Amino acid sequence: MNYEQALEKFEVVIGLEVHVELNTNTKMFCGCRNDFGDEPNTNVCPICIGLPGSLPAVNKKAVESSIAIGLALGCQIAPTGRFARKNYFYPDLAKNFQTSQYDEPIAFEGTIDIEVPSGAIYTVGIERAHMEEDAGKLTHVGGNTGRIHGAEYSLVDYNRAGVPLVEIVTKPILGAGAEAPELAAAYVRSIREIVKALGVSDARMERGNVRCDANVSIRPHGQEKLGTRTETKNVNSLRSIERAVRYEIQRQAHIIANGGTITQETRHWHEDRGITSSGRPKSDADDYRYFPEPDLVPVQPSKELIEQIRASLPEKPADRRKRLQGEWSFSDLEFRDVVNSGLLDELEETVAAGAKPQAARKWWTGEIARLANAEGKDVSDLAITPADVAELATLVESGKINDRIGREVLQAVLEGAGNPAKIVADRGLEVVSDDGALQAAIDEALAKQPDVLEKIREGKLQAAGAVIGAVMQAMKGQADAGRVRELIIERANS
Ligand code: ADP
Ligand code: MG
Ligand code: ZN
Repeated sequence: MNYEQALEKFEVVIGLEVHVELNTNTKMFCGCRNDFGDEPNTNVCPICIGLPGSLPAVNKKAVESSIAIGLALGCQIAPTGRFARKNYFYPDLAKNFQTSQYDEPIAFEGTIDIEVPSGAIYTVGIERAHMEEDAGKLTHVGGNTGRIHGAEYSLVDYNRAGVPLVEIVTKPILGAGAEAPELAAAYVRSIREIVKALGVSDARMERGNVRCDANVSIRPHGQEKLGTRTETKNVNSLRSIERAVRYEIQRQAHIIANGGTITQETRHWHEDRGITSSGRPKSDADDYRYFPEPDLVPVQPSKELIEQIRASLPEKPADRRKRLQGEWSFSDLEFRDVVNSGLLDELEETVAAGAKPQAARKWWTGEIARLANAEGKDVSDLAITPADVAELATLVESGKINDRIGREVLQAVLEGAGNPAKIVADRGLEVVSDDGALQAAIDEALAKQPDVLEKIREGKLQAAGAVIGAVMQAMKGQADAGRVRELIIERANS
């Protein structure tokens, strides 16, 4: 059954759980450094690995960041909230329980408007945003999938254990129809934009700073009861989220249409094969034996603190978009293209680094997006920074290199050859507009095409094209084509 047929028969319901890793200096309940990429098991202490007798204390900055996220999502902030122990065993959870929030989340009942590529806007309800700690990181070695199945052994790094997380959970999202996959991706993009603008997270999906679990169910049109959902875990790029939701809709429709039933379970997304596979069964009544955390006092943010954070919130994403479109003088179409490509931040930073808005747009949504797509990656995962793109755009703008060389330089940046100016200097790619060198190349080309000057004198200016082509070829595309043309015409008329 194809996607269109699935949507004719069924209504789609999605629910998104997004984990945001906060960028506080220290962990949620101890003084260990919260830093990505340190030597494994160096940022650990008795508290974050749960040794007997250790006592946690709540990170104030993490609470403030969580409040900021809640407010930005239009949530109410709980005047008092407790932490709870969620009990389960997992090798990366040395404490044997995760300190989380259960029935008293710090933020609840919000909404956020999300625009999808078609321009339609959906209002997504936020159920709650709660604070918790991350688990450590397991690396499964020896298998070929990186998963535990088939691995020879596993390594555990507790540096991430106890890193502050905010989990944002939506209410079931209905009514997006065929656009549900795009909405899921656009929602996560917005969450990323928001936490980045708030400055509370590095918001890099490829590092797992923002992770999404996508719940999907379908039900026959007209049926009241929600269908059975699956939860595809830790989908780690926007593109994968969209693909995973689309895949699940089709998979479930196929099963139900053939008289089968959906199992409530977690699923894994396989980016390479474009499919989800079964994880573990999961009932709504999974018994984690939550109980109030006895070692931590309730979190009771004062009204003053909440209002102070509210007053310092950055511009709302929708307002920011309106402002930027005006500042850059982009048409609706141009602007939407940037937003839908998820390149707003990149563009803003590129313009701030000195590029003209249109040039910045052209590079990001054109050549860079094309290269990312060809590699099946998100643009944000490519090894190029807004500063690089600004430098590249400026090199082209000033005429030091042309567009074609620009694309070559871009490729070299992505391959790790350095920044654009360095690549141009190292490889001698600067366009030659030195008349002496150009005249010499023109002489050579004219020797092979002696009738060109005569043709130009007769008014057939297009005859210059062949000589320009030959000069370009001789100079490996680095000749200033405009100047070559001028020189040939001067020659003909002298
Ligand atoms: P869990 O502990 O199973 O992860 P959560 O309450 O944290 O449960 O998150 C469940 C998510 O799934 C929420 O976003 C919720 O809105 C969504 N959801 C619940 N029921 C359905 C359903 N039938 N179809 C799709 N999404 C659903
Ligand atoms: Mg959950
Ligand atoms: Zn610690």
